[in-house]
Amino acid sequence: MRDSNRPATMLLHYGEDKSEYQGAVVPPIYQNSLFTFKDWDSIDKAFDDPVNNCIYTRGKNPTVAIAEEKLAKLAGGEKAKLFTSGMAAISSAIMHCVKHNGHVITLKNIYGPANNFLGTYLKEKMNLEVTYISGTDIKEFESNIKENTCLIYLESPSSVVFSLQDLEVVAKLAKSHNIKTIIDNTWATPIYQKPLSFGIDLEVHSCSKYIGGHSDIVAGVVIGSEKDLRGIFESEHALYGGKIAPFEAWLIMRSLRTLPIRLKQHEENGMKVAKYLEQHPKVKKVYYPGLESFEQYELGRKQMTGYTGMMAIEVDCQEVEKIKAFMNSLEYFYIGVSWGGFESLVYVPAISYLKEMTPEKFSAMGISLGSVRLSIGLEDADDLIADLDKALKCLN
Ligand SMILES: *Cc1c(COP(=O)(O)O)cnc(C)c1O
Repeated sequence: MRDSNRPATMLLHYGEDKSEYQGAVVPPIYQNSLFTFKDWDSIDKAFDDPVNNCIYTRGKNPTVAIAEEKLAKLAGGEKAKLFTSGMAAISSAIMHCVKHNGHVITLKNIYGPANNFLGTYLKEKMNLEVTYISGTDIKEFESNIKENTCLIYLESPSSVVFSLQDLEVVAKLAKSHNIKTIIDNTWATPIYQKPLSFGIDLEVHSCSKYIGGHSDIVAGVVIGSEKDLRGIFESEHALYGGKIAPFEAWLIMRSLRTLPIRLKQHEENGMKVAKYLEQHPKVKKVYYPGLESFEQYELGRKQMTGYTGMMAIEVDCQEVEKIKAFMNSLEYFYIGVSWGGFESLVYVPAISYLKEMTPEKFSAMGISLGSVRLSIGLEDADDLIADLDKALKCLN
């Protein structure tokens, strides 16, 4: 019993053995750096398998291990490793796959720091060559593969414009050329999209978004095969040392209990708000894969089983003062850069882009002065719509 695979049930029970901690309904936080052994033979034996034995908390910690087992099971992977941030997980997964003088294919609209890591940092440190494509056509992937291509790095839906890649087709192509694949699956979460089932090698998440969900942790996870995760455990995780704190893993365990039910509400609210925005005369475009009008709606239906609450809109206005007034007059949407928490958020990407570039330059990235990012939280959707309705009047 208690072996259900259904996420709502599994996330409450899987990976826990209450008899090991006095029947406590919530597993304890093992807040210790090391584990002690009764004699020579027992520590000697533990060293034979440091992945699966508790020796030192930079390796295996029991609280962290419970959260990792749940995440691996949820994603359909053999193993998961939690990290101190999404970027620690992403940079470690990438380092596991790339080679000196190697070549990487990725998308124009991946998460900014991941882009900097590949295209600036590793370019300098490892002479890595990076090709950027839109990712919407398999021919783009095919025609850019070279002798030294070692990694295809995906993010579906992508940042900024939420464009999708056909995961099954890309994974097949990559396998036939012996190229590793990584996907940043933060938007869809392992509830609504299972990239490993399509043949993608590694799935990475920022747990700071929906997986955490309460805007109280920064963490990340890599999920994949036993073999890849053992390599990451022994190299990137152990050597860079970006281990998660037991307390934060415990908070993730707390968050996983409500992930399925939270996502249902984010999805319902997201759909309601997106449909409202779609028909608003001051909104030119809504970027949300759940809308039937979304260009890649059919592909989304093929590879995702639901939608979360992050979206972008393009308002019909290019006057900074009016857009400022719109953003400032929202009452339920807080102004901030993260997303995926209980609270609704608004952010206008132009605020950061205007510091470095002209509007002409950033429009090449699919962003204009009128691009607005909305993270739809768990408030009553009707309150959020009323708030947007009032604020959008500032654009008249
Ligand atoms: C936030 C984010 C990350 C980075 O996660 P951190 O936990 O902030 O390091 C990676 N990918 C995407 C899509 C994100 O939104």
